[in-house]
Amino acid sequence: MFTTILYPTDFSDVAQKALKYVEQLKYAGAQEVTILHVIDIRSLELLVWDPENYKTIENDLRESALNKISFIQRHLEKSGLRVKVRIETGIPASKILRVEKEENATIIVLGSHGRSNVKDMFLGSVSERVIRNATSPVLVVKR
Ligand code: ATP
Ligand code: MN
Repeated sequence: MFTTILYPTDFSDVAQKALKYVEQLKYAGAQEVTILHVIDIRSLELLVWDPENYKTIENDLRESALNKISFIQRHLEKSGLRVKVRIETGIPASKILRVEKEENATIIVLGSHGRSNVKDMFLGSVSERVIRNATSPVLVVKR
């Protein structure tokens, strides 16, 4: 039932906490996990003042994400899961929902909050959009 996990991460503490639950899903039949990081195109555009730098900055962000993901990947492989890695550029919630379809995910595991982690917010905007629109069940790990 939960064979194919989608684990979107912004590398925040809450997303990191969700990793423990990804691992444990092995005991519920999980075999494969896709680790997904989305480079938020809106923050990328804020960072770029000279359009010529766009690709360079995107590549830097991509490289830094890949570097962080490699630790997560090794960790999950050690616990016996097959791991796929995807780094996309776009609007995080839209990309997460697209990758859910492309990878035929049967469960999504994410944090209730992410990098902003505003005290009074019940949910972050990315988790809210994903919960509302996902096809598969969503495991929301609380902060
Ligand atoms: P907001 O972004 O609305 O200010 P927030 O940062 O506290 O609020 P969300 O961004 O909704 O909360 O993050 C909730 C979860 O969604 C994260 O723990 C992570 O699992 C996932 N997520 C958020 N942003 C990304 C991203 N850019 N790429 C992949 N996963 C993400
Ligand atoms: Mn966020």
